[in-house]
Amino acid sequence: MTSILDLEPKIVWKHFDEIRKIPRCSKHEEKIREYIVNFAKQHNLEYQVDKAGNVVIRKPASQGMENKPMVVLQSHMDMVCEKNKDVEHDFSKDPIKVKIEGEWVTAEGTTLGADDGIGVATALAILEDKNLKHPPIEALFTVDEETGLTGAFALEKDFLKGRIMINLDSEDFGVIYVGCAGGGDSTLKLSIKRENIPTGMRVFEVSVTGLRGGHSGCDIHEQRGNAIKILARILWKVKKDMEIRIIDITGGDKHNAIPREAKAIVAVSDEDKFREIVESEARDILEEIKPVDPDMKVDIKGSKGEKALDVESTNKVIDLLYALPHGVLAMSYDIPDLVETSTNLAKIRVEGDKVTIVMSSRSSSKTELQATRDRIRAIATLAGAEVEEGSTYPGWKPNLQSKILAIAKEVFKDLFGKDPEIKAIHAGLETGVIGEKFPGMDMISIGPDVRNPHSPDEKVHIGSVEKFYKYVTKILEKIE
Ligand SMILES: [Zn+2]
Repeated sequence: MTSILDLEPKIVWKHFDEIRKIPRCSKHEEKIREYIVNFAKQHNLEYQVDKAGNVVIRKPASQGMENKPMVVLQSHMDMVCEKNKDVEHDFSKDPIKVKIEGEWVTAEGTTLGADDGIGVATALAILEDKNLKHPPIEALFTVDEETGLTGAFALEKDFLKGRIMINLDSEDFGVIYVGCAGGGDSTLKLSIKRENIPTGMRVFEVSVTGLRGGHSGCDIHEQRGNAIKILARILWKVKKDMEIRIIDITGGDKHNAIPREAKAIVAVSDEDKFREIVESEARDILEEIKPVDPDMKVDIKGSKGEKALDVESTNKVIDLLYALPHGVLAMSYDIPDLVETSTNLAKIRVEGDKVTIVMSSRSSSKTELQATRDRIRAIATLAGAEVEEGSTYPGWKPNLQSKILAIAKEVFKDLFGKDPEIKAIHAGLETGVIGEKFPGMDMISIGPDVRNPHSPDEKVHIGSVEKFYKYVTKILEKIE
């Protein structure tokens, strides 16, 4: 069986093979940093480490390229550590076991760490390779991209000299990424009053389950069902026709996940009618979302409770949930099929005398992001709820006039005989944070084909790694 050390370009795979042996889960980058710093020392390259643990290595230009602008090659040191339940693996010390499967390199039951190990390996190969024509290079290796972009957030303003940056962390060869979304959460707090459940009312639990959920950025364009919104629509229909009191309502979990499940315990005045309304509304909704969410289930079962929200509180909760936006709010004018602005109604809980609702909004436009959060605030105000806005992280607005983009497009066409695709993603990237920190930074993000990142099925396409190395090094050659 061939080893990955026999794959081309050997100079990239050699580093990838070393990197895979080094524990590097997010927030535990000490050992990989040591490897990178030792590499700089061995090759007599200038390097710096900042307080957060980010590393930059500088390589002088090749002969004749001294006057070209400096280029930052950026990758992140950490990886997502996930494994299958039946696999024994200690990410704090065991090397990742890799194997070649057809055209792909993958790991045995764990994440592979090609995200972003292959970017790190590519940068190290370029720093080492003596056969390249290139401008001055700054290779930036950040920490903890995966759990909050904390390395990028911690960068000091003088850590980078270059103002052109190639991020090596995207996952589709043949696509040049030119933008990402910024985001920010809003937490709504609605005060509620409780009373005894009026006599004659019966108590039930209504639950919405079986939805696909997914990432509130990358999957939002599919318009999958949001369990909380579906539950709200059903309860609103019930409220329109009969007496109802909420006893408890809960749904969703993480701010960046589309809620897959939600349930409410309610007291209602007319059991038969209640069942009829819930079932008929559930049928209508399933009919609407069947193409993406065919397994949605709405169930009713008997339940218990003593105190319920009073009429006014019940009405406010249902109206507020029904009125709050969820999903795609605007598409990009510049990039086809790109969601520019969205929001995720992510979570609801009843805690003490308050109902808490978490909304997570995203946009590649800073002003649209703020407008979305303002709109959420306006709706909350109508219901008499208070709003706390969490901090924002910046987006990266596509600049189709970018110089590095023009070079990357031309080089791609020269090398591979076709035009690359130009895309942006509706999620946060380090480029958003770095672009905000270093004004005027001209950026693109590229990478080889990586599939199923962050899961034990992660794999990297061998042929695309070879093409990717050719591509990045040729871009460097053409920098003006
Ligand atoms: Zn990554």
